Amino acid sequence: MTADDRQPVRIRYAPSPTGPQHIGGIRSALFGWLFARRHGGQFILRIEDTDQKRSVPGSIEMIQDAFDWLGMDIDEGPRQGGPYGPYIQSQRLELYQTWAHWLVEKGQAYKCFATAEELAQMREAGSGYDRRYRDLDPATAKRLESQGQDYVIRFKMPLTGKTSGYDMIRGEVTFDNEQLQDTVLLKSDGFPTYHLAHIVDDHHMKISHITRAVEWLPSFPLHLKIWEALGWEKPHFAHLPVLLNPNGKGKLSKRKERFAAADGTSVPVLVHEFIDAGYLPAAVLNFLTNIGWNFGDDREVFSLSEAIERFDLTDVNPANSAYPIAKLHWLNGQYIQSADVDHLAGLLKPVLQSAGYEVDDARLRRVVPILQVRLKTLNDVIAMAGFFFDEWDCFAAPPTEILFQKKMDGRATKQVLEASIPLIESLADFGHERQYAAFKDLAKKIGYKNGQVFGTLRAAVTGQRVSPPTFETMEILGKAESIRRIKLACDSLE
Ligand code: GLU
Repeated sequence: MTADDRQPVRIRYAPSPTGPQHIGGIRSALFGWLFARRHGGQFILRIEDTDQKRSVPGSIEMIQDAFDWLGMDIDEGPRQGGPYGPYIQSQRLELYQTWAHWLVEKGQAYKCFATAEELAQMREAGSGYDRRYRDLDPATAKRLESQGQDYVIRFKMPLTGKTSGYDMIRGEVTFDNEQLQDTVLLKSDGFPTYHLAHIVDDHHMKISHITRAVEWLPSFPLHLKIWEALGWEKPHFAHLPVLLNPNGKGKLSKRKERFAAADGTSVPVLVHEFIDAGYLPAAVLNFLTNIGWNFGDDREVFSLSEAIERFDLTDVNPANSAYPIAKLHWLNGQYIQSADVDHLAGLLKPVLQSAGYEVDDARLRRVVPILQVRLKTLNDVIAMAGFFFDEWDCFAAPPTEILFQKKMDGRATKQVLEASIPLIESLADFGHERQYAAFKDLAKKIGYKNGQVFGTLRAAVTGQRVSPPTFETMEILGKAESIRRIKLACDSLE
């Protein structure tokens, strides 16, 4: 099935405002967003806050911020406005009430006066709601209502037969009607349940395709029946697979926040945790698009616009997928590697600053090209290149276990360091190629391997075992600072 018969394509993402945005929700939103963009349609954000108990203040801003950070633009929503607003369900209560009562009038729903005690008895009996008010005579219903007895409105689900619907990912799905209860549509406080509210909104907002998590599949027959009872043309449906934990067991969304996988890897799950961990939005989107859908041609790295050109809901794999977090690390490295130098410098600067470094822009601009192949996350910049920005009096000589190279002791290390100082001073050209040639000669002259000399220098000027290339590093640090650090290392061996 394609989008052709429902134009324009209008897709909504309809989160409940229960706190920070979870990556599983973003994955569902992304598949809808890609489909909307592919068909030149609209992407709508609708806040489903009819369960007021679960609403967390500030959630709408967190959701919007997550989309902003990812660069997934929203055409209509609480912030953007649009022709079918308001886009927050608690501001549309009258509409749901009107349609709930309309269904009662048409005999498709009924007022249920069951008291809390009655419901508790039914729960104890273990049979679920026993439909005791379904066929209440109108006179009794009127009397109870006039006595001020609270009621909910329940849907009259057919008691027998089957309901079938077409799912774009799963094909035809059929359910026995007797499996379903007479679900509540409108609660006694006048708030609708999800089942009624989303259908009323999807109709009034002219949604063409409902994309939502597969958890809603068991309610699909109920929804189909409500659409039919309301007499509205149904949209298309796609029940999306969900993300499982990295070990493939259990739904990821049960996790509330970052946790450690069995192998110790830190697994972010909330969008702000991806930001904090130093991932790039493009890498996160690429990563999510790859789970349960594939680009083809065995390609794992592709841009969002390339994905838009190919994406189709019908190609989504119906199976839930384990969350391959290690792939994100790798992908993020790929994105950092190919990032534009100025753009990357702009992203790295605040990371360094928040770690307390004073960042000189010109220096950072020079560091980025030798650094970017070595970073997997933006945060790696601190361990890998913080030493470039150590203030003059901050840099400390490394401990001997870092300073001493293979088969070298304090005496040998000192010899190399001491020989390096006049050599550096003598170099008119301090470019890294010239340094390389000069230090190669020095190694030969004093009888050490290149690796021993270069490694000693690396440790002395960076304080680290792993760093960007030593001579390029010294070129950026400059002669004076390189010598100063080498002297510090020398002195530490006194
Ligand atoms: N508010 C529902 C949820 O957060 C939306 C489901 C749907 O997209 O219809 O799961």
